[in-house]
Amino acid sequence: MDEEKAMDGDGKRSGGGTAPGQIIAAELTWVGDRFEAGIQVVVDGGGWITEVGPAPVGRSPTRSLPGKALLPGFVNVHSHTFQRGMRGRGETFPAGAGNFWSWREAMYELAEGLDVAGVHALAVTAFTEMRRAGITTVGEFHYLHHAGEGDYAFDEVVLRAAAEVGIRLVLLEAFYRTGKIGSPLLGAQRRFGSPDLATYWRQMDHLAGLLDPALQSLGTVAHSVRAVPLGEIIELHAEARRRGMVLHLHVEEQRREIEDCLAAYGETPTALLCDRLPICPAVTAVHCTHTAPEDMERYLEAGGNVCICPLTEANLGDGIPDLPLIHARGGEVCLGTDSNARISMLEEIRWLEYVQRLARERRGVLRDDAGTLGAPLLAAATRAGARALGLPVGTIAPGHHGDFTVIDLAAPTLANPVSGTPAAALAPALIFGCAEEAIAGTCVGGRWRIAPTDAALAHGGVGSERVDGG
Ligand SMILES: [Zn+2]
Repeated sequence: MDEEKAMDGDGKRSGGGTAPGQIIAAELTWVGDRFEAGIQVVVDGGGWITEVGPAPVGRSPTRSLPGKALLPGFVNVHSHTFQRGMRGRGETFPAGAGNFWSWREAMYELAEGLDVAGVHALAVTAFTEMRRAGITTVGEFHYLHHAGEGDYAFDEVVLRAAAEVGIRLVLLEAFYRTGKIGSPLLGAQRRFGSPDLATYWRQMDHLAGLLDPALQSLGTVAHSVRAVPLGEIIELHAEARRRGMVLHLHVEEQRREIEDCLAAYGETPTALLCDRLPICPAVTAVHCTHTAPEDMERYLEAGGNVCICPLTEANLGDGIPDLPLIHARGGEVCLGTDSNARISMLEEIRWLEYVQRLARERRGVLRDDAGTLGAPLLAAATRAGARALGLPVGTIAPGHHGDFTVIDLAAPTLANPVSGTPAAALAPALIFGCAEEAIAGTCVGGRWRIAPTDAALAHGGVGSERVDGG
């Protein structure tokens, strides 16, 4: 409880304005890909990190965090918050084994039945759960636009929900034109549709005026090659680059998408994109589950990002991406909670490696040159995600937003009663042994949200989370 009090502040809600400056001193701080003791992090009144280094003589921290470790806040590159409403649904199989496409039917049923209140409640629930899981930035790949014919009511709802929870948001506004290649939108898909690019950009301009500039920004999305004709993907990409925005796409999550693309265009989706778009670090392909090695090599060489969503890909039975190839070519994947069937960034990074162990019958698949796993796996959850979203987050260094995840070093799941858990073992202990119970709180732009304490849970309280400003 002492630490919680120490992290308490002035009770203001997050979502804009200026927090007072602070000097944070945790027991351990993640700098330069390892935990170090005796580090102070200075965050200015605008929520930016201005200084990181050993504590200068005579300067006292304003926020002392003994028994805690400070990580860069986790970056969730790919989410559909409304799919949080699918949790527990679509998990019965009366007609035999399901697959991605049968799940999609259940998801369409959900999407068709939602109203503004429902989309808002699901977004608040998902964003709140994300902060509890140490996520401070989310890329919301948003394609459920219309409450009624022609409106974009659900876009504003997502902005509002993110502001209420105080999570940093890149609203990745999706352009969605066809039900499959060359086919009109059907049923629930009509709630996703964009009539043309001019309408899309008008809506983007409208949304730009609604953003909280401290915490929110816009990015572009071409939903997939099955939902956007190639010519419009090219135009969308060109305008996104002109405006300095990132472009995200679902790519090759399912074999059928590749077969349909080959039939329509004579090329795989990735080959098509590499041929027709100037792929660059502002482009992120989500999934790449079935991408051919030669296509992946071209895509990485051009500088594109790859986002993997291990829990969703497992839940949907998508398949296993070729991470050893991406890793060998120097590609650093980022992560998304995607369908939000489970929201846990620690579990996402754990399964990023575990799926590969199971598939390849090897361990340490994603190890770095030093043979360690903590740094590359935490990079997937932080630095690589920041690059995919084009944001100065994911690193505890000057010039970055003051977004942090605080680890409780006293968490029972981190304890090793025989040998202890030295700093060098902390990252793998956290990744392979812990979940949300080890996360004491998060900070976004200098504003803190403290997790419920064990004491609150022990007394049967719901441990409602508190947002504070200082
Ligand atoms: Zn997705």
